[in-house]
Amino acid sequence: PTQISDLAAAYDVTLTDTPTPHDERAAALAAPRFGTVFSDHMARARWTADGGWAERRVEKYGPLQLDPATAVLHYAQEIFEGLKAYQHADGSVWTFRPEANAERFTASARRLALPELPVEDFLASIEALVRVDREWIPTGEEASLYLRPFMYASEKFIGVRSTLEAEYLVIASPVGPYFAKGVNPVSIWVSQNYHRVGAGGTGAAKCGGNYAASLLPQQEAYANGCDQVAFLDAATNTTLEELGGMNIFVVAADGSVSTPSLTGSILEGVTRRSILQLVADRGIEVSERAISLAEVQSGLRDGSIAEIFACGTAAVLTPIGRLAGADFDLTVGDGTSGALTMSIREELTDIQNGRRPDRHGWMHRL
Ligand code: PMP
Repeated sequence: PTQISDLAAAYDVTLTDTPTPHDERAAALAAPRFGTVFSDHMARARWTADGGWAERRVEKYGPLQLDPATAVLHYAQEIFEGLKAYQHADGSVWTFRPEANAERFTASARRLALPELPVEDFLASIEALVRVDREWIPTGEEASLYLRPFMYASEKFIGVRSTLEAEYLVIASPVGPYFAKGVNPVSIWVSQNYHRVGAGGTGAAKCGGNYAASLLPQQEAYANGCDQVAFLDAATNTTLEELGGMNIFVVAADGSVSTPSLTGSILEGVTRRSILQLVADRGIEVSERAISLAEVQSGLRDGSIAEIFACGTAAVLTPIGRLAGADFDLTVGDGTSGALTMSIREELTDIQNGRRPDRHGWMHRL
């Protein structure tokens, strides 16, 4: 911790001259709509091929001025992360496994030919920003401050090659409980016409382009009355990979749990990794393996699959009540939230919110 605090101190802080008035902030914190309200400051640093990382600072949140020839606007050389800061009942502030996000950010940078930001620097930028904007952490049940670190190719150059300049920023957005009216099962559309990524592509990286590719299939999901889209592998169009922004788990009627293995085209979720641990801790049989759509369809028809859930930082665990596609429409169990899904969900949110002992040392105090 000493090391990180020293590094956080390396971020020069210039406070905003126009802080959000207390009442306005209180109103924003009371009922934030996901991703619409941002705190008063942002952390940033700049990289050049010649000089490396420099200009670490926390400053007033505000627009960026980009030259129209800025590389990211043309070739999408961009990566990002998503994690949350929680305020516990005693007023202390924590993040959940931030080193895992830092390491994934480094891996994404490698795949997108962007400079790697050292793990300590990633942690320090978050600490520096959250310290300055700690008043922006909502305190309600399941509320948190969502943190969005990102990096983009900032060089003014429209030739196709990796950038010689990059900009790293962290912005923060207060978020309320994902399910304002209690946890409700969602419906999933299995995309059989579109894929998110292919073998050797950028699926394991958290880059903006993957999400751009998921938007049209997501619209197809809405058009078919579903909440979210699930993708199959591009090579065979038979194996379940993940959702547009969440990983997926299947719970068999015999109690065993499985999730698609990391094939190189799936994003390795921090939530996924944590659930694998919590399930194993209960002595439940858990596997990472190829899960075919056909297996899921027959399992839902004959009752050998009891629950399916999605997981990610934003919604933690989300029960899936219905799975549909071009030629099938199946209910998961009786269509309500599964027992194991809800129990693991409670355990994980309890750890994140400081209501249960953190036996794996996942919480990082700021
Ligand atoms: N898959 C994709 C494509 C995602 O965007 C996310 C959200 N980051 C996840 C899985 C879940 O990852 P995490 O648990 O780290 O939020």
